[in-house]
Amino acid sequence: MDKPLRVSVVAPDPLLEAGAEGILRSCRDLAVVMPPVLRLVLAIITHMSDCVRCLIYTRISKDRLGDAHGVANQLADLEKRALARGWTVVYRLSDNDIGVTRKDPTAAGKSRPGWAEVLRLVDARAVDVVLCWKWDRALREPLDLEYLIPRFDKAGVRFAEADGIIDLGTDSGRLAARILIAVAKAEQERKSERQKLANEAAAVRGKRPLGGPRPFGYAADHVTADPAEAAAVAGACALLLGGGSLSGVMREWTAAGVRPVQSRTGTWTRQSIRTILLNPRIAGLSPYKGDIVGQGDWEPLVGEETWRAVRSILEDPSRTPPRGVRTLLGGLASCRCGNVVSGMPSHTGHHIYRCAPQTKNQAWAGGHVARKAAPVEDFITDVVIGRLSRPDAASLVAVPEGGPDVAALRAEAAAIRANLEEMAADRAVGLITRAQMLAATERASARLAGIEADLEDAAQENVLAPLAAAGNAAALWQDLDLSRKRAIIRTLMTITLRSPGKGSRVGFDPATVEVTWRQQD
Ligand SMILES: [Zn+2]
Repeated sequence: MDKPLRVSVVAPDPLLEAGAEGILRSCRDLAVVMPPVLRLVLAIITHMSDCVRCLIYTRISKDRLGDAHGVANQLADLEKRALARGWTVVYRLSDNDIGVTRKDPTAAGKSRPGWAEVLRLVDARAVDVVLCWKWDRALREPLDLEYLIPRFDKAGVRFAEADGIIDLGTDSGRLAARILIAVAKAEQERKSERQKLANEAAAVRGKRPLGGPRPFGYAADHVTADPAEAAAVAGACALLLGGGSLSGVMREWTAAGVRPVQSRTGTWTRQSIRTILLNPRIAGLSPYKGDIVGQGDWEPLVGEETWRAVRSILEDPSRTPPRGVRTLLGGLASCRCGNVVSGMPSHTGHHIYRCAPQTKNQAWAGGHVARKAAPVEDFITDVVIGRLSRPDAASLVAVPEGGPDVAALRAEAAAIRANLEEMAADRAVGLITRAQMLAATERASARLAGIEADLEDAAQENVLAPLAAAGNAAALWQDLDLSRKRAIIRTLMTITLRSPGKGSRVGFDPATVEVTWRQQD
């Protein structure tokens, strides 16, 4: 391993500079555009003249401006270094905007075409020295080095830095390389560990995470609510609580002109909206790795109970409206046999409701419903708007007597979280024992879970709130998503449909649509 490598000229030689070497160098600069035969001749001459063929490798990991300036600067400087050492640059290779680090050092890294070519030329002994700005341009993992040393060694090629001490051509240089890279690796790991601890501490204190793009709903400071986006978030939560769907939110956000923070297309997906609404950040809660660890120091966009209820909707697959429900009353209104009706096109092309064939109650002796949908839908719409327009509509959404006191619950949850934090600090300085801390934490967590469940329920009682609060229920109803209209109907009433009978040709008979209010006046 430690056999001496090809002796190379390291100090600049003024005589060679001015003489034939200078001419040769000019020739080699042209090597790139030469035909292969000439290249071969040049290679032989180069070999015989015992000059040092140098390969310059440059890499910039983040090409922020995208203009390759970094690479150009590195290259210009390295050219001077090579000249000063009397080396002749025969190849210039670079990789732009490709990082060296990878999570799994045993896996193949990102493709670096420039570096791959360097290794090919080394193996082919087409160069005598590979010159880099700094060793970390080429490698970062200690493992990389152990692969590189024998490879360069076998080819008799040196690896050198612009002005470092790493030189894989000598045993002391290899030792230096191993130490430097091991130290750098350790420092990198320590740094990432420190960063993790700092992030966690910041989350507990409710400090906004540093770095990263601003979250949707907030201004560039990550703390102040952005009026339009905050309204969009609050509106989306109301829509979902009212039985609306993510598709409905997507349509509303697109119509409102709010755009995703980081998106080339500027268009929303259900997934991107879901991610925003699932983040406890919008309720002013500070998350760390999936847990809520504190109260954030940013403005909440919605109440904690609202966010919890929205989350439970989004995370519970059974709550999503059944696929294929495209009608106002399909699966919602009943036939007199007790079965639900389904909406479907009839043979005449009209949209109809009929007793759902798959689940028809065969024991029922009476007739099963089948009728045109439009008149029924118009009637139900009038009934709903009429109910929501009454002066006492607000009573429909009032929290019933004995319901949870949302403000008090929220305050209690905040206090418990603060306590947990304090306990962790006490434990850290030895004021309480581990057993004491575990017992107290268990009690606190159980109470927190109870409060969170209560808060969730509290918000679910507000399904009708946006409509009842609006001055003009009819206008608002027009703009509602179908899934939301269905949720409102389901909350307000049960509907049983009868067949229209012979009178249907004359006009709509309200007696054939039985409406039962769920909440007595
Ligand atoms: Zn039926």
